[in-house]
Amino acid sequence: MSKRHSLEEVRDFIEKQGYSLVSTEYINAKTPIIVKCDKGHEYSVRFTNFKSGKRCPECAIIKRNESKRLDKQYVKQIVEEAGYTLIDIIEGVKSKPKALIVRCDKGHEPYKVNYQNFRKGRRCPECKAEKMRVDLSIIKENMRKEGFEFIKGEYKSNRSPIIVRCPKGHEYSTTYGLFKEGKRCSKCRTSKGEIAIKSLLEEILIDCKMTQQYPVKINNTTYHFDFCVHANKKLFIEYDGIQHFVPIEAFGGVDGFNKQKINDKIKDDYVKNNKDTEL
Ligand SMILES: [Zn+2]
Ligand SMILES: [Zn+2]
Ligand SMILES: [Zn+2]
Repeated sequence: MSKRHSLEEVRDFIEKQGYSLVSTEYINAKTPIIVKCDKGHEYSVRFTNFKSGKRCPECAIIKRNESKRLDKQYVKQIVEEAGYTLIDIIEGVKSKPKALIVRCDKGHEPYKVNYQNFRKGRRCPECKAEKMRVDLSIIKENMRKEGFEFIKGEYKSNRSPIIVRCPKGHEYSTTYGLFKEGKRCSKCRTSKGEIAIKSLLEEILIDCKMTQQYPVKINNTTYHFDFCVHANKKLFIEYDGIQHFVPIEAFGGVDGFNKQKINDKIKDDYVKNNKDTEL
């Protein structure tokens, strides 16, 4: 189909690409010829392949190495622009950076991060934990809003163990992170009396739904009723342990007792003022 080229035509084409023809003979487009690149490397190539773009393989290797070198320089620049220090590059396929070992500007332990994630803005986990740390007064306030009380614990981050007192007066160990996720007092969940009531309710309630620790918002604070039976009205059931009637040391003593009384009163009033609820 394609017409046979003359040696001159071939040489002309090759020279226009900045290369030169070393061979002094040309048979056809499928017979290898020797050409020399503009850097002086000689290699053998079929003219048909040269026409479709096959260039000096040695130059290609050099170029690839250069781009690799550039890549490292580029990665270093990206890391330094973030104010971080590049410790190491873990290469992935085709010598592209896969992960980096970097150190933050606060001098925390170097950490490993996926290169793409670093580019998307993932920064030092320790810095993040520091930033996530909430002021203790805010934590106390957030807990108070839900009727919980921060008792003790050295709060360093959302994962530090702290002791909290639940609205029912149980003191238990948790973390602020868990509290934020909605994990509440485990002692409340396992109170024997409540378990008994629960199984009783499950047995007698056939058509209505029942919720345990039903939350109600009163004046911006969340209170919980032990049970709520969803009938034509909301029927609340409270299982009150002894701490509702006399001060008990394990439930915060007199302080805890007074708080308990206030909480109970607020909940009682709420039911009294809402026609569609019953206690
Ligand atoms: Zn070359
Ligand atoms: Zn850091
Ligand atoms: Zn509790």
